Amino acid sequence: MMNTTAQQNHPKRRLAAIRSMVQSLAQSWLDIVSPECCVACYRVFRSSEQRANNYLCQTCSDTFIAAPSPDELKNDFIEHFPGDLCAVTNVYSRYALEIQHDSGLLQVIHKLKYEGFYRVAEEMGYELGTLLDYLGAVGYDALVPVPIHNARKRERGYNQAEHIAIGVERVVKIPVAKSLVVRTRYTSTQTKLSKEERIKNITDAFTSGKDAHRITNGVFLVIDDVLTTGSTLNTVAQCLLDYGARRVDVATIAKTT
Ligand SMILES: [Zn+2]
Repeated sequence: MMNTTAQQNHPKRRLAAIRSMVQSLAQSWLDIVSPECCVACYRVFRSSEQRANNYLCQTCSDTFIAAPSPDELKNDFIEHFPGDLCAVTNVYSRYALEIQHDSGLLQVIHKLKYEGFYRVAEEMGYELGTLLDYLGAVGYDALVPVPIHNARKRERGYNQAEHIAIGVERVVKIPVAKSLVVRTRYTSTQTKLSKEERIKNITDAFTSGKDAHRITNGVFLVIDDVLTTGSTLNTVAQCLLDYGARRVDVATIAKTT
């Protein structure tokens, strides 16, 4: 057996030590020229810091509140869509979002929707996937991100729901299907509309896409960033049912309260 000095002087170990030192210097340099910061509070990360994920500090993450249980979410959903109007069987959400308060979660949701932070959408999707896996909500033929109109995708450069679905896929290993349903109308933003206006705005905004033949008899999970009244999710679910889906569930990063 080699003594400690001999071990340290072994060429392979010396090379590994030099490589590690170079990597650490490179990381320090990266931290200086391009510091990474928390997307919610903008605080620059220290390189050794424990984070909630690549984009979020632990302190901000600890302020996020878990969404109500799937049963409570479903009860809330059917209040908006009673009886035959409800196209959704199960409702899942990761966090409760208080839109009246400028919370860290609101900052994150805003960034993944409007500011090009699609990698954050994937991280949040991964967290949603972890919850779905924990709840056993994994028996789907495909994950269906709520589509945005092509013109809006050109404007924004990406569809945040697709990136959330990519994050979910990493955990649950169910493929993302982007061409089952498409958005046919460029609807104005839903954020400031009343419930009645939302439903009117969204009805008939979706139709089947080029892979519609794969809908028949399928069980699907529709994915979006935020569940408010559920008018968009319910319309996409109804579209899938109209084209032969057996069951449709929905999952979002956040549920507004
Ligand atoms: Zn933070």
